[in-house]
Amino acid sequence: MTNPLYDTLFGRHAGRTDPFLILADGATIGYDAFLAQAARLANALTGAGLGAGDRLAAQVEKSPEALALYAACVQAGIVFLPLNTAYTTDELTYFVENSGAAMVVCDGARAEALGPVVRALGARLETLDADGTGSLARRAAECADTAPVVPRDGGDLAAFLYTSGTTGRSKGAMLTQDNLLSNARTLAQHWRFGDADVLLHALPIFHTHGLFVATNITLVAGGSMIFLPKFDLDRVIDLLPRATAMMGVPTFYTRLLADTRLARDLVAHMRLFVSGSAPLLSETHETFEARTGHRILERYGMTETNMNTSNPYDGERRAGTVGFPLPGVEVQVTDPETGDPVQAGEVGQIEVRGPNVFKGYWRMPEKTAEELRDNGFFITGDLGRFDADGYLHIVGRNKDLIISGGYNIYPKEVELVLDAQPGVMESAVIGVPHADFGETVLGLIVPRPGADPDLDAIAAAAGQALARFKHPRKLILLDELPRNTMGKVQKNVLRDRYRDIFA
Ligand code: ATP
Ligand code: MG
Repeated sequence: MTNPLYDTLFGRHAGRTDPFLILADGATIGYDAFLAQAARLANALTGAGLGAGDRLAAQVEKSPEALALYAACVQAGIVFLPLNTAYTTDELTYFVENSGAAMVVCDGARAEALGPVVRALGARLETLDADGTGSLARRAAECADTAPVVPRDGGDLAAFLYTSGTTGRSKGAMLTQDNLLSNARTLAQHWRFGDADVLLHALPIFHTHGLFVATNITLVAGGSMIFLPKFDLDRVIDLLPRATAMMGVPTFYTRLLADTRLARDLVAHMRLFVSGSAPLLSETHETFEARTGHRILERYGMTETNMNTSNPYDGERRAGTVGFPLPGVEVQVTDPETGDPVQAGEVGQIEVRGPNVFKGYWRMPEKTAEELRDNGFFITGDLGRFDADGYLHIVGRNKDLIISGGYNIYPKEVELVLDAQPGVMESAVIGVPHADFGETVLGLIVPRPGADPDLDAIAAAAGQALARFKHPRKLILLDELPRNTMGKVQKNVLRDRYRDIFA
């Protein structure tokens, strides 16, 4: 093979006229048409002087052309660097500067603001709009619809994906062709994807979930995707009858459940619902099953590693857990102080080793050395434990661990108690500085719509359920929790906001 990732995901489908993408309006794009578009874009990129190993940063709306840009980069050996569409000009400057991108592709509406910044950094700016037009599309239209496949090795970089920035500044994870390929193959097999599958795709394509998990699996299996620009409840409900599988973040499922049209009949034909990127509440898992008869399959992964663990396809999908290590992936739970494996069933830091684990953070050798051990294990920053049946439970992030008076407190344990109280929709438990204890527990509660939770009663209930050192010292009602653009709760923002509350 000359370019394993291109050959396996894309090249293999040359000449196929059956649909790859099914768009919101029902129009379809066949595999051959998609590959031709990718080739035109590859020619346009190489024509602009980009070559193997160069980075291309793309901050573009989700569209078939944006996906073809990914394929074009793989074909031309260019390292693809997709960026969250919500990032501001300042944020983008960091990514372009940090990555040393040779080209930035953005929406036409952003070109004026980004132009000077991008040029000052010595990169070239092209545009690609949501409707597939723009300066890059114009160049591509003038190019041939076949292009050379630039030789690459499995160990060569295929993508830079920046982490979501939930715990701090986003880090550029260097992912090789083999990282992406091994995971796509494993998942396609594990979740039984085949060429008859139609995946409902409403995730963003700048994140590992939508780009690598969803798209690469479909390509490995040779199936098709209902490709929606975003999660639009009405559209999703209209189109579910045409799908065989859906992948989503937990909010997709809570939004579906909030709508009475989600009923057994609507999804009786579906083969699989997958959830990931953030914890799926047990309650959501159970309510979804009661309503539809389907047990959501929850899995666990991250930018640096793609997917690590998954609930079983055939066996019991256990709510509140992320299942077992995927074939070929090793997971160990270690003591954060010593790095030694903890006793069976105990909580520790989750470490991962396998062909899916990234090469390191771009231009962050110290950070890489801290998190990527010499023996190949990557310290994920998440805390968890294996239960007696071998299911992995995630209890939170290492950075969110509260240490009060020398005791470890896992926020998740306290949050589960708060979430179960009347009138509570969700909660976040954080540690804040305290003169006597070092840190103490603060509980932030978001009420259910229209509810007025009784904080004294909740404090009393927490007092009954939890050991004294875990009791929230104070409970505060909030309209909503701060979330980043991936919908993840930003506890660092909360910690900043309440840092002086007991000072
Ligand atoms: P940053 O590393 O920049 O702080 P991030 O870790 O949120 O941001 P991602 O790589 O997008 O960036 O997210 C991976 C993280 O998401 C995991 O480390 C884990 O904390 C969380 N996660 C993913 N899937 C699940 C899941 N099924 N249950 C609980 N948490 C999950
Ligand atoms: Mg992370």
